Amino acid sequence: MLPGTTGSNAGAGSGQQTTLGVMGGGQLGRMFVQAAQSMGYFTVVLDPDVISPAGLVSHYHIQSDYLDEQGLAQLMQRCAAITTEFENVPAPALITLGAHRPVAPSAEAVGIAQDRIKEKAHFVRCGVPVAPYAVIETPAQLAAVADDLLPGILKTARLGYDGKGQARVSSRAELTAAWAEFKNVPCVLEKLLPLQMECSVIVARGWDGACVNFAPQLNLHRGGILAVTQAYEGNMPLALAEQAVAATKSIADELQYVGVLCVEFFILADDSLVVNEMAPRPHNSGHYTLDACDLSQFDLQVRTLAGLPLVQPRQHSPAIMLNLLGDLWEGGVSPRWDQVLALPGAHLHLYGKLKASKGRKMGHLTFTGATVAEVRANALAGAELLGIDAF
Ligand code: ATP
Ligand code: MG
Repeated sequence: MLPGTTGSNAGAGSGQQTTLGVMGGGQLGRMFVQAAQSMGYFTVVLDPDVISPAGLVSHYHIQSDYLDEQGLAQLMQRCAAITTEFENVPAPALITLGAHRPVAPSAEAVGIAQDRIKEKAHFVRCGVPVAPYAVIETPAQLAAVADDLLPGILKTARLGYDGKGQARVSSRAELTAAWAEFKNVPCVLEKLLPLQMECSVIVARGWDGACVNFAPQLNLHRGGILAVTQAYEGNMPLALAEQAVAATKSIADELQYVGVLCVEFFILADDSLVVNEMAPRPHNSGHYTLDACDLSQFDLQVRTLAGLPLVQPRQHSPAIMLNLLGDLWEGGVSPRWDQVLALPGAHLHLYGKLKASKGRKMGHLTFTGATVAEVRANALAGAELLGIDAF
């Protein structure tokens, strides 16, 4: 049941239609809207973009800025509850909404995930190991950086994504230059770690604290952007998988988080686990759940928001997901989907973006099958057809 409501909160057939809202109109919002609609909910998207992927498929689209008072008022008027699909929604907007409607995740949780400095402090509070790092907000802090943090990666505290707002630095001179390049905004310098693998864990936590999870998925990045996700039993050592799930749950519990949360981890050369960052929303690495699980990460986002029961999702097929970046549309020519879709177990998801550009997430392609070997073979064939450097 939605907190503060009485009677049936079912999306369909309950007399008055329940409407759920989402801040942001990207592909994550689109898949949320689709999941909500399949349960009979009406949906509202707030996004300034006239042709946003979610706005195009939602019952209502409020085309306003995220901080526009009228836009926010309209959203609250229409919606029983509101979620967000990207972490850079201005916190004041979520505070305004949260004063009048259930908002999940909360402004506070999103505010922590938006800021690498607060985020790392939260991980440390939870007792989950982070990469050695230093906060750089002042020239004095820059000068005081310990030598053993180099070579490292300088990351802006706010507004980074897909490797943007990051610079690899190997000397103090490079560090100083990189910080100047970032206009001396607050940053963290992280020690460059020897990564063996990267994985992520997605949990959904309800208003009552109930928490369910997907098994950790293994992620390959290219150029700072997720390229491939491998989700199947045996993708990583069991002990590490268990450790990653436990760490994610403690990170969510400690925040009293409500909604879907993704935590990204590094697995180092010595098999130790280090937390990288969290996303207060469904995550690109969880898109395979749409086709390989009985409940997707978006179904769970709807359930958490609407206060419906959370049950542990079950993966019914091994899966490999390939991200489809704008690079594949070079020269304005669409990839040969007829060839790709001839492969067994291929599930194509395109986000309805009208313009392709380098690095832009246009869609994803998930392969499922009876066995890991079969899924790997078909995913490799698909990657080859598309010219993706897979795995
Ligand atoms: P996202 O799109 O996931 O939000 P982001 O821009 O926030 O990405 P990070 O997740 O911090 O960036 O880093 C992107 C990638 O860079 C990581 O997935 C990892 O491959 C690499 N990386 C980041 N930090 C480190 C580190 N300390 N040591 C080694 N590699 C790193
Ligand atoms: Mg990341």
